[in-house]
Amino acid sequence: MRYPFLLFDADNTLFDFNRADRVAFAASCKVSGITPTDDLLERYRVHNNACWTMFDRGEASKEFICLERFRRFYTELGIDADPAAANEAHLATLATCSFPIPHSVEVCRRLSETHRLFLVTNAVASVQRGRLSRAAIKPYLEAAFISEEAGAQKPTKAYFDYVFARIDGITRDNCLLVGDSLTSDIQGANNYGLACCWYNPAGVENPEGLRVDYEITDLRELYDIV
Ligand SMILES: [Mg+2]
Repeated sequence: MRYPFLLFDADNTLFDFNRADRVAFAASCKVSGITPTDDLLERYRVHNNACWTMFDRGEASKEFICLERFRRFYTELGIDADPAAANEAHLATLATCSFPIPHSVEVCRRLSETHRLFLVTNAVASVQRGRLSRAAIKPYLEAAFISEEAGAQKPTKAYFDYVFARIDGITRDNCLLVGDSLTSDIQGANNYGLACCWYNPAGVENPEGLRVDYEITDLRELYDIV
């Protein structure tokens, strides 16, 4: 066995975050008196992604970006709505949504028979704990390390120090980080010297300057890697 310890990202790696986000977006629209449409969701996502990139880079706090994404979105639309109320509805709804990524449940179940599985996620703790408690993969995960509880986030060294201090037996050489995000997962593995597997179902072009040890479009490809 090459990698007895597997560190999985959560959103858009094991959980279908895009689908959950769509439901949560509709909830935020409801409190703001807006009719949700695909066009509006796309506009919201532009701001949401920009804000989370700021967070990944350590440029802003989670509290700030959670409100800022709605501030920017409503400013662009010229709507007088309360970003705090929208964000609250969004997070509360998100916590109830744990739609699995295709094959994630079967892959976690099978790998948990031979490997030790952990969740490494940049997220709001209340949302991620809520979602995890309802998730079909929950019995297969030994622990979940959530950035908000760690006081640090991927891709920082401090975050991985926190994780490594809490897993008996893990070393830089016996674990594999599996994730969809280049800025948090793959960059984090590069920073900390871990092997990494990029879950890239959309077949986005491989970036320059980042080490990607494995690239998969289907989680079942992990069987041959680990
Ligand atoms: Mg992710």
